[in-house]
Amino acid sequence: MAERMLQFVRLQQQTPEKRPATIRREDFAEIYDRFDPSRASEQASRCSQCGVPFCQVHCPLNNNIPDWLKLTAEGRLEEAYEVASATNTFPEVCGRVCPQDRLCEGNCVIEKGFDSVTIGSVERYIVDTAWEKGWVKPPTPSRENGRSVAIIGAGPAGLAAAERLRVRGFAVDVYDRYDRVGGLMIYGIPNFKLEKEVVLARWKQFEAGGIRFHLGVEIGKDITIEQLRAEHDAVFIATGVYKARDVELPGADLPGVVPALDYLTASNRKGLGDAVPEFDSGALDAEGKHVVVIGGGDTAMDCVRTAVRQGAASVTCLYRRDKANMPGSMREVKNAEEEGVTFAWLSAPDGFEGAGHVTGVRAVRMHLGLPDATGRQQVEPIPGSEFTVKADLAIKALGFDPEDLPSLFGEPGLGVTRWGTVKVDHRTMMTSLPGVFAGGDIVRGASLVVWGIRDGRDAAERIEQYVMDQARVAVAAE
Ligand code: FAD
Ligand code: SF4
Ligand code: SF4
Repeated sequence: MAERMLQFVRLQQQTPEKRPATIRREDFAEIYDRFDPSRASEQASRCSQCGVPFCQVHCPLNNNIPDWLKLTAEGRLEEAYEVASATNTFPEVCGRVCPQDRLCEGNCVIEKGFDSVTIGSVERYIVDTAWEKGWVKPPTPSRENGRSVAIIGAGPAGLAAAERLRVRGFAVDVYDRYDRVGGLMIYGIPNFKLEKEVVLARWKQFEAGGIRFHLGVEIGKDITIEQLRAEHDAVFIATGVYKARDVELPGADLPGVVPALDYLTASNRKGLGDAVPEFDSGALDAEGKHVVVIGGGDTAMDCVRTAVRQGAASVTCLYRRDKANMPGSMREVKNAEEEGVTFAWLSAPDGFEGAGHVTGVRAVRMHLGLPDATGRQQVEPIPGSEFTVKADLAIKALGFDPEDLPSLFGEPGLGVTRWGTVKVDHRTMMTSLPGVFAGGDIVRGASLVVWGIRDGRDAAERIEQYVMDQARVAVAAE
């Protein structure tokens, strides 16, 4: 191992080529090229094969990163794929969209002084190669176990559970109100971060493995949870969080002031070739407009970068704290800056101007005050610092909350937390309804794809345990 690995002293970190900002502004294609085989193997060889790999500890899936890096460095890619896919249902997605700077790569021990191993890009390279070579197989069980599970929501959490349960022999029915599988991987995250073909390819594989999808079916409206409980041995709720947090400011109801997800979904649907009347009418199209995005998270970054690509006349991001305190990934902020987005740091919205349609966002400058009990510095407005940014389209990207779930699902017995998320017993992942489990954003609040996958995989284990225990109890009672 020694000669082939530990090359970080000799070899510098190199990420895959990033397309120049002037070119990538013009289209919605992913911005990073792929590693070529020799570069991937070289970069993987920078890993020092730590005895206690902090990269793995800080990966929500505890991926066996050192092993697949070593296998890649040795050119043993099929084995690397086996290792990478053993713990992850969507390694090709995580390699693209995980905020690696906060997870695996941010905790790589060679980060200090030598720059981390480019774990995400190598993961993506391994799995993209596996798709090309036909190594990715549908999830088929060695034998059916005669039990069935209903999954509500075809996002990463629901799909990860579906895949695991199918492999274990369950009949799996996935219900989703949308017309495509993938949840926010399809309708939230823009194509320039995650090309939709990557997600759609998995959908085909899942169907080939026998997972049944019931699309355009809204649970709580078209079917009740009660019906699903009667028809299946267990139910998994993975419906995500979709209620946009609002700003209660003068003019917030003016036409042209829109929620982030409506804007991004319209753009993603357009890219997928759907008819999107709200886009075609111009209401959700930034072309030629002055665009202001309010918020500093990853969703805000996705909005500003989408607006750039739609040909906006100007794009400004208003964020009430400074750059160092942005909740979003620094990598995405940097990409946005390169693509020409203007950031108004320490600026909070104060109202929307316009008669009949928004024409500007009024804002006030803030300064950072003393830290609160959580240690985070408070922001305070600077008197007399008001200013207006011209806007024909103002996008609110302030985060998401769950809807009122017990009434949405017609299940008054479904326990929720004070934040409105589904309450689960964290050891069993079961809700207050026996046999009904939950995971992903609907339990955590708005989170990450990789945590959704983790929850889905964990839930599959707990569900199997529960269903088999119930079967044993039934046999004992006969
Ligand atoms: P979702 O992906 O939201 O899937 C839930 C599914 O449930 C949806 O398909 C929905 O249609 C369905 N559903 C809801 N209610 C019902 C019902 N009543 N009946 C039937 N079906 C229903 N994470 C990252 O890791 N990296 C990123 O770069 C990133 N970018 C993001 C960008 C945006 C704009 C957004 C909004 C999120 C982003 N995230 C990112 C977060 C990530 O997408 C989510 O954390 C993840 O998708 C949550 O997975 P989930 O399966 O819990 O829910
Ligand atoms: Fe890193 Fe995400 Fe891959 Fe884990 S799943 S190794 S955090 S990119
Ligand atoms: Fe390799 Fe970095 Fe992980 Fe150590 S922390 S095993 S050097 S990738």
